Amino acid sequence: MTTRTYAIDRHKMTFVERLYLPAILQGMLITGWHFVKNIFFMDRRMTIEFPEKKKTLPPGYRAEHRLMLREDGNVRCTACMLCATVCPARCIEIEAEDVGDNKIEKRPKNFTINELRCVFCGLCVEACPCDAIRMDTGKFENATFDRRTAIYDIKKLINNQAEGQSQLSQGLY
Ligand code: SF4
Ligand code: SF4
Repeated sequence: MTTRTYAIDRHKMTFVERLYLPAILQGMLITGWHFVKNIFFMDRRMTIEFPEKKKTLPPGYRAEHRLMLREDGNVRCTACMLCATVCPARCIEIEAEDVGDNKIEKRPKNFTINELRCVFCGLCVEACPCDAIRMDTGKFENATFDRRTAIYDIKKLINNQAEGQSQLSQGLY
């Protein structure tokens, strides 16, 4: 086995460079320029005063999950388990029950997602054959004092709509 060696050109620092003052001054000038710019050109600031101000999320943004309903008010999910199978974080648990309808066969008795364990990859949404699960709620601030509140059951997932879009409040479930 041959070993390769690489020569790294380390030039000797000059007296001025060893003082470090020019580099410190350069850094302070850059910081000062951004400070002044942020005061006088507030509309061009890269940061926003979150959470008072919020940015508009891009269309493809993946946020907390929600479960969709059919027009008759029943949950669209047929408990096929594809989302739970594809989930790399293993954070979806589904308990299926018989519907008594040959077309649908099954539905979830319970559907649980651990939003803290989720890595927001969106694979569950892509895998779903009936558009029963979406990640378009726009909610991503899921910090909590109690981890148990981050485990969403079926009712929470159905009701987890973006503001003003609650399906539970419309009496659909
Ligand atoms: S977004 Fe990814 S990690 Fe989260 S539940 Fe879906 S498949 Fe699992
Ligand atoms: S949400 Fe979609 S992929 Fe997941 S079990 Fe229900 S129908 Fe299947």
